[in-house]
Amino acid sequence: MDSSIAWPNDVVARYLTVAGAIVDLTHGDRYYPTDDGIGETRNHTLATCTGCRAAEEFSHWRVVKRMTFDDKVRDPEAADREACKWAQAHASECRALPRPTV
Ligand SMILES: [Zn+2]
Repeated sequence: MDSSIAWPNDVVARYLTVAGAIVDLTHGDRYYPTDDGIGETRNHTLATCTGCRAAEEFSHWRVVKRMTFDDKVRDPEAADREACKWAQAHASECRALPRPTV
């Protein structure tokens, strides 16, 4: 594993698995249709394992309960923290190797 290889621009964190594969954390967004027809774009942090192709998505948005309504708050750092936790745990147990590119 050569850690001097340049990271893709969109990679925010990277974990090396016990098997030598990589778990990458990236930010992304996706459009969701809503009932009013306007729709909304929600951001997330995505953790992807290059060994076994496992992926887990952590939304940047959380619902905060107010007195009379639910508020949506964007908290990318909390999502990153959760994604890092998942990546750390996955990297320490995943034994899958990435398929060599020919
Ligand atoms: Zn894996």
